[in-house]
Parts: sequence; structure tokens; C-alpha cells
Amino acid sequence: MTSETPNTSPSPEQIRRAPKALLHDHLDGGLRPGTIIELARESGYDGLPDAAAEGADRLDAWFRSAADSGSLERYLETFAHTCAVMQTREALIRVAAECAEDLAADGVVYAEVRFAPEQHLEKGLSLEEVVEAVNEGFREGERRARADGNRIRVGSLLTAMRHAARALEIAELANRYRDLGVVGFDIAGAEAGFPPTRHLDAFEFLKRENNHFTIHAGEGFGLPSIWQALQWCGADRLGHGVRIIDDIQVADDHSGEVTLGRLASYVRDKRIPLELCPSSNLQTGAAASYAEHPIGLLRKLHFRATVNTDNRLMSGTSMSNEFEHLVKTFRYTLDDMQWFTVNAMKSAFIPFDERLAMINEVIKPGYAELKAEWLFQASPSERR
Ligand SMILES: [Zn+2]
Repeated sequence: MTSETPNTSPSPEQIRRAPKALLHDHLDGGLRPGTIIELARESGYDGLPDAAAEGADRLDAWFRSAADSGSLERYLETFAHTCAVMQTREALIRVAAECAEDLAADGVVYAEVRFAPEQHLEKGLSLEEVVEAVNEGFREGERRARADGNRIRVGSLLTAMRHAARALEIAELANRYRDLGVVGFDIAGAEAGFPPTRHLDAFEFLKRENNHFTIHAGEGFGLPSIWQALQWCGADRLGHGVRIIDDIQVADDHSGEVTLGRLASYVRDKRIPLELCPSSNLQTGAAASYAEHPIGLLRKLHFRATVNTDNRLMSGTSMSNEFEHLVKTFRYTLDDMQWFTVNAMKSAFIPFDERLAMINEVIKPGYAELKAEWLFQASPSERR
């Protein structure tokens, strides 16, 4: 007696309903285009591109093409607009609430969303007020999601900008708001010329406080950046880390034998989480196509790989969209999706018992239910 459970690729609808965990998402990279237009009007910000006058869809397209353009100036301009309309308590609450709502509607059950408090001070808010407003927004979004029949839990990551000199101050802020909605710390911004070692005092402070942090490293820049983030700064996770592929050799012959260098071995041995963001990497040139994205090999080699969105607005993406691309490209099944999701949940910055409960009570049952759906489908002959 054998039963053959179908091990086929999930449909887009199943991908959306599957529970997902997200570790790398920027608050200022995920606004709804319609919200940008409304907030700009309310706050008197007149710097939006002309496309905004033609409506939310046109503005949406503008963001994507600016991010796709390959020009760093145009890419950075997109964030100047989103940050410009996120300068008041009300605006931050709204953006954070909608972020939680949108993620929940996409089937995300756990998310760590990051933002740089120092970028929201133009209209007089204090760093503390920024953090409190965003956290209030996330709580509001979680409530609205519940009312819609969705479940999500959102934690904040406080980001310091690599080119600025406020990392220690932001790290102290993250520590103060620990247990009050903030789950960790991050460093972001251009890698070249701004090594994470510039901010050692911040990392050393967090380590002394037994706190958690991730570092944007190994996106545009190669192995030295990953090495510094891990071995000098002590990062718990790597924001992207995709260039770890440079330390992995695949033989050209038929054997396809794989050899890991010391750093790649260390990353795999120590189960260092990689916050991979496929669509974002394509836009910044870190990979040429989904098929060539290192995630395929890293998954095969059992790195602690996770799937993330980075900037949903600029990349026109969502967690479901990222998985749809991966399912199509690598023929991933629900088991693969579950593997990435459990990886992310294991790597989250909330306490171990809560991560475990999320895996055992939410994620695994969610996938089990999806995997059993074929049992209840009418056979083709019974369908009309
Ligand atoms: Zn990022």
C-alpha cells in the first residue's frame, strides 16, 4: 500500500496563504503609493515626482523604474521622498500600521521591520518619539489585521546609518526600548568606504548588554565586509550576505563538486542567518537573474538562508512575490517554503520559547494544512 502525496509546486494562492516570516524589510521602503500622495498633501511636501500628480499607480511605477534604473542617485531619491512624508507622529503611526496590515494580508505571521530614527527628525520629533510612534503603529496594524482575520506579530529593528556618527546613540536607544517593541539593531547605508568597524563602540555596547544586531554586509561589497561584520563586530545575522557565494567554488567539470572557503564554512558551521532579498539583489546588480541568484546553491548547501523583501515599494514586491519567483525558478515545493520560513523564525530576535511556539503552533501546522489540501480536492473526473 503506497500513497503518493503530490510534491508539486504550490500555486500563487497557496503561497499567499502559507505562513511566512520576514526578517529584512525597511519601513521607509514599503509605503503604499496612495499614502505617500496623501501624506505629501497633508504635510505640504511638494517634492514628489510629476508622476504623483497622475495618481497612485503612476507613482508606484515611478518608484520601481527609479529603483531599476541602475543609477544610485535615482535609487536614493526614492527614499528621500518616502522619508520626507514620514516626519510626524501621525504619519509614522499610519505608515507602520499599514505596513503591518499589508504584511499580514500577504500571509506574513512574523516580521522584523527596520527604520532609522535619525531620518525622521526634520519636523522636531525626538528619537524616542519616532520609536514610540512606529511601535504604536505596529500595534494598531496588528489589531486591524486581527479584525480582518489575519495574525501577525511585528518587532522593530532600529537602524543606524553607516555614513553617520550616531550608531552608539541609536544602539543605546534600541537597548532602552528592548521589551517595548524593539527587538534589535542594524547598520545600513552604502558599504563601500563605510566599513562596519567604524561603529565598533555600538556593537560592543550591545554585546555587553546581551542584545541582538544584524549588519547590512556582503550586498554590493564582497567578502571583507562579511568578515568584518562577523569577526570584528560580532553580528548575529547578515543583512543580505549574498556575496558569501564568492567564497564557494563549484567545479566546472561534471562532478559539480563544491568547495567552501574558510569564511563560507564558518558562516555555514555557525548557522549564521543570511537575510537574502532576491528581487532587491537583482535591482542592485548583486545577481543577474533569479536563476543565477546564489539562493539556489545556498539552499542546496544548507546555509541558514532566509527569504526577504528589503523594499517592497521600490522592488514592487511582497513575500509571496519573492516566493513565487523562487518556486518558478527552482521548482520549490511547500517543504522548501517551510524550510526557509523555519530558518527565518529560528533566526528571529525574539526569545527562544516564543520562536519555538511560532514554529510549532503556527508555521508547521499552517504548512501541514496546505500540504494536505490535495486530499480534499475533487478528482478531475468529478469536476465539471
Ligand atoms: Zn536592506
